[in-house]
Amino acid sequence: MQPRIISREEHGISRRQISPNALNTLYRLHEGGFVAYLVGGCVRDLLLGRTPKDFDIVTDAAPGQIKRLFRNARIIGRRFRLVHLHFQDEILEVSTFRASAPAGEEEGEEEDGDGKPPLHLKDATGMVLRDNVFGTPKEDALRRDFTINALAWNIADFSVIDYTNGMMDLNQRIIRPIGDPEVRFTEDPVRMIRAVRFAASHDFEIETEAWEALLRLAPTIVRAAPARLYEEALKLFLLGSARAVFDGLEKTGLLAALFPPLGRWLAADGDLSAALRENMENIDRLRLKGLPPSPPLLLAMLFGPPLEAEAVARHREGIPYLQALDEICLAFLEELAKTVTVPGRIGGQMRRIFSLQPSLHRIPPRRPAALAARPEFSDAMTYLIFTTKTTEENRKSREWWKAFINNPDAPLPEAANATAASPVRSKRRKKRKRRTRTGSAENGPFEAAQ
Ligand code: ATP
Ligand code: MG
Repeated sequence: MQPRIISREEHGISRRQISPNALNTLYRLHEGGFVAYLVGGCVRDLLLGRTPKDFDIVTDAAPGQIKRLFRNARIIGRRFRLVHLHFQDEILEVSTFRASAPAGEEEGEEEDGDGKPPLHLKDATGMVLRDNVFGTPKEDALRRDFTINALAWNIADFSVIDYTNGMMDLNQRIIRPIGDPEVRFTEDPVRMIRAVRFAASHDFEIETEAWEALLRLAPTIVRAAPARLYEEALKLFLLGSARAVFDGLEKTGLLAALFPPLGRWLAADGDLSAALRENMENIDRLRLKGLPPSPPLLLAMLFGPPLEAEAVARHREGIPYLQALDEICLAFLEELAKTVTVPGRIGGQMRRIFSLQPSLHRIPPRRPAALAARPEFSDAMTYLIFTTKTTEENRKSREWWKAFINNPDAPLPEAANATAASPVRSKRRKKRKRRTRTGSAENGPFEAAQ
């Protein structure tokens, strides 16, 4: 099969849109006698007039040959060896054309240990590259996940090379796996999440056959490594389309498969879905305002309402609230770890967002300066504002804290003054100064919630 070549006059990619580092790298490879393309998401996004997240390059130069051309090159990867070029403000990934790996050996997956000997290849230096399966440009395109992600931009003549009808799907805004969707989602279940992510972030439709395969295979997402699924989950929700991603995951059954406790809560409480959707809209709003939400805040917004409700229920049975909350969060994180491993530090920060809530609700608060100096204060305040926007009680807490933060030198209300001893007051000023200097989210929660 010959690729469709779309000449520079027929597509909208201009060299001005490409990072100068990437462009220079492509030229250097080309002048060195190698084939060199931009590939993947950056070509897709350039064609759509969006700013690419990163620029990936493929070439027929082997890693050793790339290393000899660039002083800032580092060969990385245990399984598939590729090269990172380190620039002051950017790291570029340069990989050698690659053929598809056998099932279970896609990026990020653990070796399946079936005892087959890995494919050995030697690079230009004669070094054996374990698990490296170099391929042709065509094989490199066909191993990719979706047609819109398989387009390449050729430095030799500035054309776009299209082996999979990706351009047509791009124009029609369709996410279509390359090959049989069932096979491709089985080879690497993370592709299902990627389909939902791209559909949400780019406002594309998942092609019908792929959609049906997704519905059937959603429960198999648990085959992917839990640590990889945590990283994917962050990409799903923190890049500005959390609300649309939530809808897509819910519709496909991926949400319940990824987060089994959440699946149970949603099944038991008909109002929860709408509340969480609103929370995800607020996560998107933060990003839009230039205040990227932290992973612990995201987790709190995604799982907090039912976790807190459960803690309140246990408290009614006589267990101290904070103790109930801690136990419930720990049990939840432990169950979640079977599918999605939240790192311990992040789980701890999520718990502290919840456990700070009672202190923030108390008006006037005890030792407000000490509370404001806590590392989770900003996230906890944002959580309070977003999850409890409507009630009168919360409005009071919000106003109180807003005044406190914006006006550190104003006299505090009586009760608070009595508890905020002078050393703490001076600490608060110090904290405020530091935060202002670093332009942190000190006012973030309040601004974001407007
Ligand atoms: P983003 O804008 O989120 O970075 P992207 O398409 O560039 O989107 P990356 O994760 O950076 O996504 O991957 C780069 C390219 O590698 C993809 O465009 C795709 O061609 C290929 N790719 C990534 N993950 C997979 C996968 N699981 N299976 C097959 N190909 C993949
Ligand atoms: Mg990318």
